[in-house]
Amino acid sequence: MIVILNEGAKLEDIHLVEQALRRGGVEPRRLQGAGLVALDAPSADPACVQGLASVRAVLSAVDAHPLASRASRPDGTVVDLGGGVRIGAGTPVLMAGPCAVESRDQVMTIAAAVAAAGAKVLRGGAFKPRTSPYAFQGLGEEGLRLLREAADRHRLRVVTEVMEPGAVALVSEYADLLQVGSRNMQNFPLLRAVGRARRPVLLKRGMSATVEEWLLAAEYVLDGGNPNVVLCERGLRSFDPAVRNTLDLAVVPILKEKTHLPVCVDPSHGVGVRSAIPAMCRAALAAGADALLVEVHPDPGCARSDGHQALGFEDLRAVAALFLARAAE
Ligand code: PEP
Ligand code: MN
Repeated sequence: MIVILNEGAKLEDIHLVEQALRRGGVEPRRLQGAGLVALDAPSADPACVQGLASVRAVLSAVDAHPLASRASRPDGTVVDLGGGVRIGAGTPVLMAGPCAVESRDQVMTIAAAVAAAGAKVLRGGAFKPRTSPYAFQGLGEEGLRLLREAADRHRLRVVTEVMEPGAVALVSEYADLLQVGSRNMQNFPLLRAVGRARRPVLLKRGMSATVEEWLLAAEYVLDGGNPNVVLCERGLRSFDPAVRNTLDLAVVPILKEKTHLPVCVDPSHGVGVRSAIPAMCRAALAAGADALLVEVHPDPGCARSDGHQALGFEDLRAVAALFLARAAE
């Protein structure tokens, strides 16, 4: 059994609940993170804490991710990226940009188009997880610098990937949102490191990860003390080469039930077929996504990575119009 205490519970409230559990014959273990306190009390009787004012919820022992669970924060988490950009606050947020930062010209051109379309966040990889060691690996710190400069010029926020614990401090200097990629969803040292970071985290779903595994990965970050996690569905590895991945949109309402964390959808990696991406953006918003992440490129045929799935600027404007229409509702 896991006992979730009210947000802001004081030390004396925690002691009262601990004493009640001890009277019931169980020694509780304190879990503390993300501004919440939970007490792990295996095989305790829920009756021993019933009626205590500071107890918000009692979860069964099988709920292995108490900090991520909806019961711990029923109102939902709003992740603030600064600059007035908030994910999970009711108005969906569009994040767009190249797969990888390739050059100053490329990222400046894209940032201008992204801002003109009305998107709020510029994406772009500087450290790229590539399947082949011979593929373009990204520009590294120079890519981070260019991304930040382009975003600042157009008042955009920045999301970019961090691949290893040792790079979290560096990437945090440039990014407003730290992306943990699909391949790293269960890189536990990295999850611990971003849990200690002061920047919000975009946690992509592993390409064969269950919802439980994904929420447990989020739990690592929350347990580390970082309450600002956005989950990002990006498609599952499946059998059909007609698509790059199978975009699991059903997971959006499922996550809304299970967790208070906001949900983003990345139809670019999720489908990998340019012509299908605008329709999947519409579908993701209809499913209740709090944000979308899409790849764009001025000349997709010449992109150094993922050109086949990059939207051109006209498509970007069409996708952005969906957001403007929603904001006007
Ligand atoms: C990306 O968004 O650049 C990326 C590499 O995505 P994923 O980790 O989902 O493959
Ligand atoms: Mn990509």
